[in-house]
Amino acid sequence: LSERLQKTFAKLRGKGKITENDVKEMMREVRLALLEADVNFDVTKTFIKTVRQRAIGSEVLDSLTPAQQIVKIVNEELTKIMGTSAVGLNKSPKIPTIIMMVGLQGAGKTTSAGKLVKYLQEKDKARPLLIAADVYRPAAIEQLKTIGQQLNVPVYDEGIDHDPVAIVQHGLKQAQENKNDYVLIDTAGRLEIDDQLMDELAKIKEIAEPDEILLVVDSMTGQAATHVAEGFNDQLDITGVILTKLDGDTRGGAALSIRSVTGKPIKFVGSGEKLDALEVFHPERMADRILGMGDMLTLIEKAQQEYDDKQAEDLARKMQENSFDFNDFIEQMDQVQKMGPLDDLMKMIPGMANNPALKNVNIDPKDMDHLKAIVYSMTPAERQKPELLNPSRRRRLAAGAGRPIVEVNRMIKQFKQMQTMMQKMSKGNMAGMEQMLGG
Ligand code: GDP
Ligand code: MG
Repeated sequence: LSERLQKTFAKLRGKGKITENDVKEMMREVRLALLEADVNFDVTKTFIKTVRQRAIGSEVLDSLTPAQQIVKIVNEELTKIMGTSAVGLNKSPKIPTIIMMVGLQGAGKTTSAGKLVKYLQEKDKARPLLIAADVYRPAAIEQLKTIGQQLNVPVYDEGIDHDPVAIVQHGLKQAQENKNDYVLIDTAGRLEIDDQLMDELAKIKEIAEPDEILLVVDSMTGQAATHVAEGFNDQLDITGVILTKLDGDTRGGAALSIRSVTGKPIKFVGSGEKLDALEVFHPERMADRILGMGDMLTLIEKAQQEYDDKQAEDLARKMQENSFDFNDFIEQMDQVQKMGPLDDLMKMIPGMANNPALKNVNIDPKDMDHLKAIVYSMTPAERQKPELLNPSRRRRLAAGAGRPIVEVNRMIKQFKQMQTMMQKMSKGNMAGMEQMLGG
């Protein structure tokens, strides 16, 4: 779908001015993008309304780059809804700071409790205590104990089928005696919200007076996540959210819905099963993810500053025709030197960040002058037909440029890699590339 967005975007890019109709079309695409990312329907509706109002304002229609302006507004508003900046953990003025984990079964409460311990150990040199208050399955307690062992932190438990409220009470007493600075309470979940569970959690809340009640939500549950968050928040007045399993292929629309429905900040995201797979939530990154645009916008802006449209068109055409030669190489290097490191730049293209072809294309800007010197030593024929460069010609180049022969060889190799990559991109990702180049 991000492809569709890009297409609409590309279409509008060609126009000097856009109309209200264009805005409408664009909004339709954004709306679909959000719904497909599992953003709640009402949230989407409200959001689109806000963006449309800003978009048909004069700030956009009269600008020289209306399409970019709109994408920018979309990004800005998404980020705004999600809280603009990262929100840290609450901390109690006196120890221990008490954190209660709540959420449905399988959401990732126990795992996230472990991740938080690790995070606090690293950030705060914390000495936490874990309390096992999920008393319905023996496996749940074992899981927490294993995590405790891995992290070298104590776990308070009384086995299964004891009163979780009493367990929390006793656990807190132990934390007091042992002067633990943090207590994390791992609670039970159910497959769905029910009164019995909420009752139990409310009682634990009452006795523990937690500084944080973190709702753990599985981002893969899509639209249902909004519902769950609303339910838990109504009953427990949560203080924040941990959104797990973002390493899956979800676009993370739940982040947007949850924040806007509960008004509570998403504080962390989980990105894997391991205990170090926890990250502080960044609204602007999530906005990009939801729209599926990578850092497209930044890239477009950068490219626009430096590229003359005509040049870009030429390059796009050459890439398609596979006629990229050393003259283009030189021209590209000039452009790239103005724009910043090539590898950084390439990584901003959606889908390119993990492209193996990119690993080998690592051109240090400070070496570029040397590379240019080598190209300048070529004859026009050699520049257009790199395959002419046999060993004796290469030696001539090395002498002419005053560079060692290995460098000449390396450069030709890099050039060939770049050529291959360009061919790949022109087949696979032409739309994105054209946009990047302002075509
Ligand atoms: P709980 O029932 O809420 O305590 O959930 P658990 O902590 O036991 O997690 C349920 C399953 O989800 C486990 O297999 C975890 O390894 C897995 N899990 C939790 N968080 C993440 C995450 O961020 N990414 C991935 N891939 N798996 C996760
Ligand atoms: Mg659990």
